[in-house]
Amino acid sequence: MSWDFETDPEFQKELDWIEAFMKEEVEPLDHVLGHPYDLKNERRNKLVRPLQKIVQDRGLWACHLGPDLGGQGFGQVKLALMNEILGRSHYGPMVFGCQAPDSGNAEILAHYGTPAQKDRYLKPLLANEIVSCFSMTEPKGGADPKVFTTRAELVGDEWVINGDKWFSSHANYASFLIVMAVTDPGAPPYDRLSTFIVPIETPGVQILRNVGVGHHGTPSHSYVRYENVRVPRDHLLGPRGGGFVVAQTRLGGGRIHHAMRTIGQVRRSFDMMCERVLSRETQGTLLADKQMVQEKIADSWTEIEQFRLLVLRTAWRIDKYKNYIAVRKDISAVKALMPKIFHDVAARALHLHGSLGVSPEMPFAEQVIESFHMGLADGPTEVHKVTVARQVLREYRGTNELFPTRHIPALRDAAIAKFADVIEAEVAAQ
Ligand SMILES: Cc1cc2nc3c(=O)[nH]c(=O)nc-3n(C[C@H](O)[C@H](O)[C@H](O)COP(=O)(O)OP(=O)(O)OC[C@H]3O[C@@H](n4cnc5c(N)ncnc54)[C@H](O)[C@@H]3O)c2cc1C
Repeated sequence: MSWDFETDPEFQKELDWIEAFMKEEVEPLDHVLGHPYDLKNERRNKLVRPLQKIVQDRGLWACHLGPDLGGQGFGQVKLALMNEILGRSHYGPMVFGCQAPDSGNAEILAHYGTPAQKDRYLKPLLANEIVSCFSMTEPKGGADPKVFTTRAELVGDEWVINGDKWFSSHANYASFLIVMAVTDPGAPPYDRLSTFIVPIETPGVQILRNVGVGHHGTPSHSYVRYENVRVPRDHLLGPRGGGFVVAQTRLGGGRIHHAMRTIGQVRRSFDMMCERVLSRETQGTLLADKQMVQEKIADSWTEIEQFRLLVLRTAWRIDKYKNYIAVRKDISAVKALMPKIFHDVAARALHLHGSLGVSPEMPFAEQVIESFHMGLADGPTEVHKVTVARQVLREYRGTNELFPTRHIPALRDAAIAKFADVIEAEVAAQ
């Protein structure tokens, strides 16, 4: 039997290196650079490219992928331990070649792409020579893909795509978009959608505007219109009508990787919270000495530890079962828990910093809004809770009896019958 909560010492050395490298070289980038996806920004390339090279030389590049795709094949547990450090900085994942949504798009291309598609799109994507976008959500429907209306029709040897997509992250920086569109409107609901690769320069692709999240950062969630966009027949990615299955290939990994990075963010807020309460005095004592403040510290520490253990166990189960579907319940549980932990810890940190906490001079207001991002992207919390409940309930059965199977009077009667000999002997001896 093995049941171990320790990191292998060899890998711990790598984590120690990552920790120092992130602190010294990567985290400062957040304060001098704009959007990590902006490959046209010369300052970004000047500062980021040499760091990416150092990571590649150290054998830590694209750790979410197997060696056949230029990754390390570390598996999800090691990736989790890395991502919880990388998640502290906007630039961490980019410097280590595992940023979303490119990471998920690479998984789809690796899984379903033809050799020509891999050559043209996957290879430069993995090298971060280009970046990509996943364009699925529509203005009228996000959480329920069955209501999507964007159409793709086969006309001669080309697919003609028409429709609007909403919150297509980083389309404004992307070289290509992975678009989900209805190809078979008469088919059963889950067989109607297909996935396409659309190069950004294709005539008819229009970015109507780029939308932000709260007030921070560069707006980069694009409202995209596809108007008579024509792509060659071979730009279908995966089977016709297989859009749902293709999307699932990226979403499982996407969700758990967000959770790993979120650990890094909440730990950072927690560290700041602890520093603050040990620094600020009011009414004659440190904040740290007040019981209502201690409750916030205790709750935050406990919640972070619980969440981290659930993420690590889920990562371990993905490694064990080698696919996301078998671990669906665990991934959905992590996904549903993530925004709450993130929100609650960031909000407590914000509150304990007082007026400074709500200002943009500290990261908490941005984190509180970001927690809502985590509750929406890759499916709203409610939908994931439904998944958890359905999966859990599959392991149970109802009873047709009048009372529950664990009804105490019935259990007592059964126990008395089971031990009748002993009980009767005791009574006879009295
Ligand atoms: C920062 C950010 C980045 C994103 N990036 C991308 C991207 O790159 N590509 C992309 O395609 N999409 C992206 N999205 C969109 C994301 O996938 C959708 O926001 C999400 O699927 C929810 O869809 P919606 O916004 O239309 O909300 P709706 O579907 O309208 O849902 C709104 C609310 O209704 C409730 N609700 C919905 N369904 C149920 C249900 N079954 N039971 C109970 N309550 C329910 C929930 O409270 C939910 O939050 C991004 C979103 C955010 C916030």
